[in-house]
Parts: sequence; C-alpha cells; structure tokens
Amino acid sequence: MSSDDALIPWLLSADPGARFRAQAAAVEAAVLRVLRSGHYVLGPEVAAFEAEWAACQGGGHTIGVANGTEALELALRAAGVRPGDRVATVANTVTATVTAIAEIGAVPVFVEIDPVTMVMDVAALAETARRQPLQAVVPVHLYGQPVDLPALLAIADTHGLVVVEDCAQAHGARLAGRPVGTWGVGAAFSFYPTKNLGAIGDAGAVFTRDAAMAARVRELRQYGWRERYVADGPGRNSRLDELQAAILRVYLPGLDAANTRRRDLAARYRAGLDGTKVAWVAAPGPDVTPACHQFVVRTPARESLRQHLEQHRVRAGVLYPVPVHRQPAFAQPALTLPHTERACAEVLSLPIHPELTDAEIDRVIAAVNAWNPPL
Ligand SMILES: *Cc1c(COP(=O)(O)O)cnc(C)c1O
Repeated sequence: MSSDDALIPWLLSADPGARFRAQAAAVEAAVLRVLRSGHYVLGPEVAAFEAEWAACQGGGHTIGVANGTEALELALRAAGVRPGDRVATVANTVTATVTAIAEIGAVPVFVEIDPVTMVMDVAALAETARRQPLQAVVPVHLYGQPVDLPALLAIADTHGLVVVEDCAQAHGARLAGRPVGTWGVGAAFSFYPTKNLGAIGDAGAVFTRDAAMAARVRELRQYGWRERYVADGPGRNSRLDELQAAILRVYLPGLDAANTRRRDLAARYRAGLDGTKVAWVAAPGPDVTPACHQFVVRTPARESLRQHLEQHRVRAGVLYPVPVHRQPAFAQPALTLPHTERACAEVLSLPIHPELTDAEIDRVIAAVNAWNPPL
C-alpha cells in the first residue's frame, strides 16, 4: 500500500456515527432534555415515540421494548404461541429470530428461500404447512426486502397460522402501499444502532393493530404487571429507556428520506456494477418499496472479493455466513436447504447507508468492477 492510500477514508457497511454527526445538535439537545427531566425509563419520551411510530404504521399500537429479539419473543407470546408450537421461519437470518422462538419453548421449522429474492419462498411455506402441523410463521423481511405477504397471508389463513413479522431490517418498507409490520397480527422492530432507524444502544418495539395483544405485550415487558405492582401472569423486564426513545424521535422524521436515499444508492449500484463479476437482486416491481437495509451482491468467490474490497478500503459485510440450521445451537443435520445454504455462502453486503455520497458509491462500484474473480 502506498502512503497515499492511508488518506482514503474507509467506507463501512453500516455507520451509525455518520447518522449522529449529520444531526448532532438535535441529538445532543434530546439527550440533555432527558437528563434534565429526571425521568429515565418508560416515561413521556417512550410514550411519544410509541405514538409516532404507530402513526408511521398507519395507526395501531406500538410497545417499546428493550431490543428486537425480545420484541419478537413478546409478540409471539402475546399472539398465543406456546411451548411446543411449531413456528416456520427462514434459516438465512440472524440467530436472534430463532432465539426468540426458542425462548418460548416453541420449535423452529426452517422453510426454504426464493433463490432470487433470498426471502421466504411462500410456495415452500405452503408445502411445509401441508406436510406437518404449524401454529405460526415469522416472515423475515431480510435486507429490507418485503416477503410476498399477500400470498403468505392466504397460506396462513388456510392453515390457521399466527403471523408475526420480523421487521428488524425493514423499517418503512411497503408492499402495495402498505407498510410491512401491518400485515401480520403483530410485528417486531429492532432499533439497534445499525438498523434503518437506530438508537445509540439497544431498543426495539412490537407493533400491532390488536388492542388486546398490545395490552398483553405491555404486561409482558414489565414483570407481567396489569397495573403497578400487580402481576397478571409471568412477565419479564424488557423496558425501553427514555434516552433511546428521545433519540429515535430525532431520527424518525428523517426515515423516509433516508430510505429514499438508500433506494437511490441501490439503483446506482445496479446501474454501475459489472454483472459478469457479481449478481444482485433485480430492482423490485412497482408494488414493492424496499427499505434497502443492505445492498447484497453474490459470488461463489466471496472471500476473494471481500479481501479485494478491503484493499480498496471498503468494508463489506456478510449477513449471514452460516445458516441457522447449520449452527451448533440450532443444528438440524438431516435438513438440507440448497438455496439457503448457497445464499449464505455467496452473499456480500456493500456499503449503502444514506450518508454515503454518490462519489463514494462510485468508488465501491469501481473497486468491485476492478476485481478479477479467481477461476
Ligand atoms: C437485528 C435483527 C434482530 C434482532 O434485533 P436486536 O435488537 O439485535 O435484538 C432480529 N431479526 C433480524 C432480521 C435482525 O436484523
């Protein structure tokens, strides 16, 4: 590396610090407001954020919780999923999706993905539901790509499945004009710092349009309390704190513009990348508005491309290298999911956060196009 190279800034696959720097004064004011308020957990900022997020979803109930994993677990519990229930989901997700199912004592049932979109293949879900009893399904809108929810809901209806959406990567994504998270009986959101809407620590939320389910989640997130000091049933502590909520309220009004910027950057990648070197998911149809949480390219020579990009000071991510059914905690050796396994071996996420400039995306494109895949 020449001495000049040291001056080229790293481009990161996610950069929560860049989001803060773009709105530093407003975030600092929010932090001070909370510090001075003397109210630090489940207070007015959380209540205001819950109302604002519900409004973004077109009305309903938001319940702020400690993180996305617990949001999913509590949503499933409140939707009636019980120990021993069989819950369909995909294996090319973060293990958190499956941890949430397992925490209940429910059994994950892995469904194959669509090889092109890399999200749950709803035909495979229908096939799985015909072959074995299922009680629930967790579609994961991976990379911000909505699952085919109309088809999925029809299958869920036929087989009586509870639908809880994992929206941790899909804040603001829409299908037929309707936000993801509003299709199932409930949805889980994560506001981990690298997500499209991210706090400065752990945070999450359940969204539901069902008032009774919302009330159950509110109990579950705080010791099972129906009212102060009186528990209705077993609960836990999964509270959201005021600091995270106040910061999320600063970022929330910019979410749509940030997602639009992500879509523009994705279009720039699609126009500039050399399709003989890498593959990527085609532009979605007019009915689909993805959240573009990740821009993912595919190549069987992923490690070679990743190292090549490192030399160009581009940090690419791998979401996720090992499918959940091949991980020690959840291994199902008898199960083979060829599309899932191949995707996990080939995917590479290029930088796409909204603070990146067009010139920076062009730098990534040039670096990818300059790569010579090993034969
Ligand atoms: C981030 C993420 C989660 C977990 O959220 P945490 O806030 O980290 O607990 C769950 N599912 C998916 C798809 C995620 O990306």
